[in-house]
Amino acid sequence: MSVTNPHSIKTLSVVVPCYNEQESLPIFVDEFLKRVTLPDVKIECIFVDDGSKDDTLAVLRDLQSQHPDLVRLISFSRNFGKESALYAGLQAATGDAVAVMDADLQDPPELLPEMVRLITEEDYDCVGTRRVDRKGEPPIRSFFARMFYRLINSISDTEMVDGARDYRLMTRQMVDSILELSEYNRFSKGLFSWVGYKTHYMEFDNVERVAGETHWSFWNLFSYSITGIINFSTFPLKIATGAGMVAFAVAVVMGIIIFIRTLAFGDAVAGWTSQVLIILFLGSFQLLSLGIIGEYIGKIFLETKRRPVYVVREETP
Ligand code: UDP
Ligand code: MG
Repeated sequence: MSVTNPHSIKTLSVVVPCYNEQESLPIFVDEFLKRVTLPDVKIECIFVDDGSKDDTLAVLRDLQSQHPDLVRLISFSRNFGKESALYAGLQAATGDAVAVMDADLQDPPELLPEMVRLITEEDYDCVGTRRVDRKGEPPIRSFFARMFYRLINSISDTEMVDGARDYRLMTRQMVDSILELSEYNRFSKGLFSWVGYKTHYMEFDNVERVAGETHWSFWNLFSYSITGIINFSTFPLKIATGAGMVAFAVAVVMGIIIFIRTLAFGDAVAGWTSQVLIILFLGSFQLLSLGIIGEYIGKIFLETKRRPVYVVREETP
C-alpha cells in the first residue's frame, strides 16, 4: 500500500518570543544557522520582542540587517507576556509549518530537522518536545509542577503532558486552528492540546539557558497555573456546589438529632464551641467559594472587553 503524505514543507516559520534576551539572541542565531540544516526548506525566524527593557530590540535590528532573509522582527509597545508574543508570531508566520521555540537555547535547534522529518514522512500534524528530567531546576518548583499536572489532568478534559515544553512544530492546518482560538486569557499548553491533531512527543534531557536568567518567579508560575486551571476546567466551581450539598445534608441530620434530643431530654445551653467552629468553617468556605467564582468572573470580564492580545510598535514586513 502506498501512503501519500499531505504535509510537504517548503517554507518554515520559527517563532521566537524574546524578553530581555540581548545576550542569548546572537548565540541563538549562530547556533540555529549551524545546527538546522534543511537545504530544501526556506526558513524565516520571527523574533517577537515582548517589550524588553534591555537592548534586545537593538540586537534584533542588528541581526535583521545581517540576515535580512532569515530574520523578521515584531516589537511590542510593552511587555505583554510570552503567550501574547507566541500569538503574534503565529499570526505573522507564513510557513507551511511553524515551529515555536525559546530564545535561550533551552529548546535544542538540532531537533528541528528530525521534527520536520516526522511531519513530512510520518503523517504527524505536530511534533512536541518533552523534557524527561528537570535537572537544574529547584526541587520545590519541580514538585509543584508535578502537582499541577496531576491536578489539571484529573479535573480537565484537555490533556496536558507533564514536562512538555512549548517547543513544537505544527502544520499550517493546526496553526490556523490555534489562531481561531482568539481568547484573551491564553494558556498555550492547553490550546495546543485542545485543537487535537496527531502529535508525537520527542524526548530530550533538560538543557539550561545559555545566558540571562529565567523570567518566571514562583508566584508568576503559580498564577500562570491558576490561569491554566480556570481556562480549561470548571471543576473548581463544582467544589462550591458539592460542599454546599454536603453542608445541607449535615444540617438536616443535625436538625433531626437536636429536635429528638430536645424532646427527650429538654433544652440545655451547651455546645458553644462547636457552634462557633461551625460558623467559622461555613463562613470561610463561603469566602473561598466567592473567591473561586470571582476568579471566573474576572476572566469573563477581561474576555468581554475584547482588548487586543498585544500592541505592535515596530515590525519588519
Ligand atoms: N518571554 C517572553 N515574555 C515574557 C517572559 C518570557 O517573551 O514576559 C520569553 C523568553 O524570552 C524566552 C521564553 O519566553 O524566550 C521562555 O522564558 P524563560 O526562559 O524565562 O522561561 P523558562 O525556560 O525558565 O520556563
Ligand atoms: Mg528558558
